[in-house]
Amino acid sequence: MTDNVRVRIAPSPTGPIHIGNVRTALFNWLYARHNKGKFILRFEDTDQARSKSEFEDIIMKELRWLGMQWDEGPDTDGSYGPYRQTEKLEIYQKHAEQLLEEKKAYLCYCSPEEIEKERSDSAKKGEAFRYSGKCRNLNEEEKKDKIGSGIKPSVRFKVPSGKDIVIDDLVRGKVEFSSDMLGDFVIIRPDGMPIYNYAVVIDDYDMKITHVIRAEEHISNTPRQVLLYEALGFEIPRFAHASMVLGPDRTKLSKRHGAAFVGQYREDGYLPEALVNFLALLGWSPEGEEEIMPVDELVQKFTLDRIAKNPGIFDIQKLNWMNGHYIRKSSDERILDLALPHLKKAGYLDEEFYTDNREWLMQVIAVVKDNLEYVGQIKEHAKLFFQEKVEMEDKKAEDVLKEETVPLVLRTLHKKIEGASDSIRQDEVKGLLKEVNKELKLGGKKVFMPIRVALTGQTHGPELYQVIPLLGKEKVQQRLLEALK
Ligand code: GLU
Repeated sequence: MTDNVRVRIAPSPTGPIHIGNVRTALFNWLYARHNKGKFILRFEDTDQARSKSEFEDIIMKELRWLGMQWDEGPDTDGSYGPYRQTEKLEIYQKHAEQLLEEKKAYLCYCSPEEIEKERSDSAKKGEAFRYSGKCRNLNEEEKKDKIGSGIKPSVRFKVPSGKDIVIDDLVRGKVEFSSDMLGDFVIIRPDGMPIYNYAVVIDDYDMKITHVIRAEEHISNTPRQVLLYEALGFEIPRFAHASMVLGPDRTKLSKRHGAAFVGQYREDGYLPEALVNFLALLGWSPEGEEEIMPVDELVQKFTLDRIAKNPGIFDIQKLNWMNGHYIRKSSDERILDLALPHLKKAGYLDEEFYTDNREWLMQVIAVVKDNLEYVGQIKEHAKLFFQEKVEMEDKKAEDVLKEETVPLVLRTLHKKIEGASDSIRQDEVKGLLKEVNKELKLGGKKVFMPIRVALTGQTHGPELYQVIPLLGKEKVQQRLLEALK
């Protein structure tokens, strides 16, 4: 265990939280819990045009749904706040003034057009853009001119030249950069808003963050941040850059690969514990082959040294398999609750039907649950219990009923069921089916497949002895007669 661990995630509330960021949040949360440390949520909301409080609410809701409760954040009392960047502008300003005073930063009067010109000139030469440093050494007279012209300056950090920056990354090992690759960079914009690389350093310092665990895409930002830590005289936290989460085609995970946001998974009927288990294994693995790991076990096993350097590949098949496992382990009651909106949406039932038939619905769930990968699939799997008329699922099903022996099979069963008790039970059905099979001597397949298709329209599905009692005597007889037509 590492002492006094304080980790954080710092999403921008400019949209719902992306699944890749949820994975990063989970790594932080697991690390905090494993070390009995603190997990902190704060918002990088300096993009005022795009930041919305609704998105903050969504992000908090998703994290809570997944069980990643934070110890400090914008909605809790915490001693190291504020936990929103727009509430800290004075603090960023204060440190910038210190850097200006110590000549570690300077005011830059370059207009966006001038910077754009420098950028396109470098692009033409095929070089990476670095600010020329034009405003670094303005003399007093030039400064006066600029001030007189009313241009609002930005604050730019003076990058020391010829300096090697070595990051001892807990995942990637030593990563080296030269300060000569970096041009002087803006830390505060003319409108007073801090730039990410600067604000993040102040925030991590203010919040006493011990470990910065984030995605690899930020490693190129890290040397700038390290220079700022040094210039400000702050202790540098440990860094751990986890690999990215990619789609099966090895591009950044997006809508094309399925849902990229947590909310969609919740709506489709994925269970939070399945997502947590699945996401934890995207770029991290404990020793051994076991993949089903409830959250307590993840917490107990989570260490940074087992974060992979290679990207985590988002395999929806694996998520579906895992989710199916957690569905099977859940109570019928829980799955029914989750299935209800899907059943309503499919037009299978309304609130009144639900209230009147809860017991029966629970049995339907018990029968179809084992085949669900996510609860939204209930629409297909439970259809046979709700449809007025059996619809043939495919050509294969249609063909089954065309066989010569089918009328005999269906008629025989119809007759048997006639004599059965009204509340026909599973063991009774088992007996009946056995009798039919024995009498006809056609072989099991020629008997049971047509019955299945006649009753459900499908060539697969739950056991007949489970289906028949749930449909009830009357419906079964109706369906058999309908198929005989
Ligand atoms: N807003 C950044 C992100 O969510 C924060 C990066 C960081 O953790 O430093 O990617």
